[in-house]
Amino acid sequence: MKKKSAKEVYTLADLQAWRDVDPPIRVGVFGDPVEHSLSPQMQNAALQHCQIDRQYARFQISPEELPESIELIRKLEFVGVNLTIPHKIAALGLVDIADENAKRIGAINVIKVEGGKLRGFNTDGRGFARAIREEFSVDLRDMRVMLLGAGGGARAIALQCAKENSERLVIGNRSFEKAQHLADQLRDFFSGPRVLGPVPRLQAIPLEEAAIRFQIANVDLIVNATPLGLNSGDASPIPARLLAPHLMVYDTIYSAERTPFVAAAIEAGARATNGLSMLLHQGALAFEIWFQREAPLDVMRRAIL
Ligand code: NAP
Repeated sequence: MKKKSAKEVYTLADLQAWRDVDPPIRVGVFGDPVEHSLSPQMQNAALQHCQIDRQYARFQISPEELPESIELIRKLEFVGVNLTIPHKIAALGLVDIADENAKRIGAINVIKVEGGKLRGFNTDGRGFARAIREEFSVDLRDMRVMLLGAGGGARAIALQCAKENSERLVIGNRSFEKAQHLADQLRDFFSGPRVLGPVPRLQAIPLEEAAIRFQIANVDLIVNATPLGLNSGDASPIPARLLAPHLMVYDTIYSAERTPFVAAAIEAGARATNGLSMLLHQGALAFEIWFQREAPLDVMRRAIL
């Protein structure tokens, strides 16, 4: 007989000795950490609403476990999975085919299993653009953006800003050379002479106070795509004293309504929001890839609010 209720978090050991529940789990999210993920409640609401007899679950998968875990979803005939921190870049090398957008980003957040083949996609960039439009009523085209991070999520956001012709893009990362490398890959998009004034349109900076302070007057939107704020006790990636009222602040983290970054921005008089809207839109686009039908956006939104 099938077990009725799903676990809060599954592991590689569960995938190796898979036992179905009802409805069967055939979609999920691989991450490390993953217990914070709100994707199950959002995707399960959509599955129920669309009367699809499948369930979505969290999987705590370490980087060393990722190759075997991905092979197992092929064998178990999953519909697909999401990838979250820290798997987006490594997973690209583990799929059979990736779409052009994902290859250009160098990271995937969605795998679809189709006819025994693993296909990789990236919905973070488009999800981010929709979230910014919804939260601040602006298009990335008009924005001078400072992006914190150069990992899987950040790479998708950076390419989206480039494709939408953002006025400026400043990439700040703890490992400066990764910020520099990402900027180099986007150089062609920013070759036009759009910005007036002394600052370059595309720039990599170290994640240091002096470098950040120098940029603040010449950016409109700051995006946190580092995990700073995911754990309680984390500091804001930029302290309130460096922020200013003209800024829009978007924290891709959504573990708390007021992440440390959102709290610092509000203290500085800026407009700020957490990453729930990006979660929603990247998730709706993933649902559409997996199930080839329109995602019930309002149902998904209600499930995470
Ligand atoms: P990732 O590929 O592992 O990249 C992590 C990035 O954060 C790297 O640039 C890393 O810098 C930097 N970083 C890690 N720890 C740091 C620290 N203690 N201080 C400063 N920088 C640090 O992860 P990811 O998949 O891009 O995810 C990053 C965050 O974005 C996660 O919290 C995730 O939840 C969030 N996200 C949210 C959404 C959404 O839908 N709302 C979508 C995508 C991502 P180094 O290069 O120096 O290691």
